[in-house]
Amino acid sequence: MTSSSDRIRHLFDALGVPAGRFTEGTLAVRSPIDGTEIGRVQPHSAAEVTAAVARAHAAFLVWRDVPAPRRGELVRLLGEELRKDKQILGELVSLEAGKIATEGLGEVQEMIDICDFAVGLSRQLYGLTIASERPGHRMMESWHPLGVVGVITAFNFPVAVWAWNTALALVCGDAVVWKPSEKTPLTALACQALFERAAARLGDAPAHLSQVVQGLRDVGEALVDDPRVALLSATGSTRMGREVGPRVARRFGRALLELGGNNAVIVAPSADLDLAVRGIAFAAAGTAGQRCTSTRRLIVHHSVREALVARLKKAYAGLPIGNPMESSTLVGPLIDEAAFQGMQTALAAARADGGTVTGGERVLEAEFPDAFYVRPAIVEMASQTDTVRHETFAPILYVLGYDEFAEALALQNDVPQGLSSAIFSNDLRETETFLSAAGSDCGIANVNIGTSGAEIGGAFGGDKETGGGRESGSDAWKAYMRRATNTINYSRALPLAQGVQFDV
Ligand code: NAD
Repeated sequence: MTSSSDRIRHLFDALGVPAGRFTEGTLAVRSPIDGTEIGRVQPHSAAEVTAAVARAHAAFLVWRDVPAPRRGELVRLLGEELRKDKQILGELVSLEAGKIATEGLGEVQEMIDICDFAVGLSRQLYGLTIASERPGHRMMESWHPLGVVGVITAFNFPVAVWAWNTALALVCGDAVVWKPSEKTPLTALACQALFERAAARLGDAPAHLSQVVQGLRDVGEALVDDPRVALLSATGSTRMGREVGPRVARRFGRALLELGGNNAVIVAPSADLDLAVRGIAFAAAGTAGQRCTSTRRLIVHHSVREALVARLKKAYAGLPIGNPMESSTLVGPLIDEAAFQGMQTALAAARADGGTVTGGERVLEAEFPDAFYVRPAIVEMASQTDTVRHETFAPILYVLGYDEFAEALALQNDVPQGLSSAIFSNDLRETETFLSAAGSDCGIANVNIGTSGAEIGGAFGGDKETGGGRESGSDAWKAYMRRATNTINYSRALPLAQGVQFDV
């Protein structure tokens, strides 16, 4: 028994989750903080996933008829439960995913924010009225609930991505079956407990509106292939999306893919370097480089390159690395040994490409022999090699230089991924060009802030190998509904569109 597992037991007790649910099963859960086992869950079989989808579908058939504002009331209650137990869930995120305490809490705040957004949305699922070319006719567009939404999530946002999907899906009249990452199944159990409390308080929600199925990729595949899953929302690596996308397409399902990023910051000669240093350090080294939006490339004008890199190296050297539960820590552990090995492989490849590496070594090995803490790395590169163009999910910041702004833009866009991007510049022509059609090709393009830390109000996602999906704010809700175009004839004639004559 470790102190982390004692803490987990205490937190689950406070949530009212019976011990067997998080202590029994063949899937062991390890804390990245010290590598110790903190729980166990029992993976679901393919047959159990199928049964869960069937239950979800039955719930959907009831829920779709419930007025949307009433559906919003369930999400409002979920937001209340999250507010009540924000500390508990935030701590669980830190224990299971290794995020520093403030980021664990921030992730729960993001869940609360999307609940608030979705509650408002429940009265704003607007359709259109459309001018008809025929006299005595009216056209409109209506949005209807879609069905069962399958949600597959990654380890690095173990709870927020579920909330982005579920809050919208519920107000849109859908039911959810969630397959969390096999690396973070405990936080999923906690979310489920909070959801069940909210559903019990609502009183008349159909059973099984939101369920969790646990396990490895085979459990995800069972969701992917089930024809009753109308929308499969999958967050994770591009490798995963490459497998999932075609499988969903084969059965004509709808897929919402949120995949890898390779996010760059351009720093122009006019940039406020104080802002740039802070923005880059948080986005590149924060969360130990394990955000899909982490800054992985710095494209800096030659005139400020030396000064900026020197300041970043100084900032990196002083970063407090360690136990994420301690308030002074800014950089916690990597999720596991595979992540550490992946980082070392990328650094070796960058060296072989001629790169100069500062940092990147393992630290705190004596204190945490079974966990993987690293000093974030800065790697100065002569050119954007394949190593740089690949997403390594670890704190590596590749530095590239430029002379002409067009060159910086070309480098920024010359990667397979298209998630997030930013420019630090006080030159209006540059910033507006960066945001224009000919500028950044990413789903997120920022000015004078870093690439990570998005708010829920905007649509979140990116193009190219990032998968094209959009979640969270703006009109992302439309992916969770089906659209019907309606034409109503209130005349006594039957004119045909386009002037076609067909008299019988
Ligand atoms: P991963 O791809 O290894 O796993 C993600 C999820 O997919 C897990 O639940 C896993 O079990 C499941 N899975 C894997 N293969 C599958 C398959 N063939 N069929 C069905 N399910 C399958 O990713 P990870 O290591 O957990 O997370 C890191 C990756 O996620 C990074 O690439 C990161 O950029 C990306 N990510 C993207 C976003 C975004 O919004 N774009 C957000 C968070 C993380």
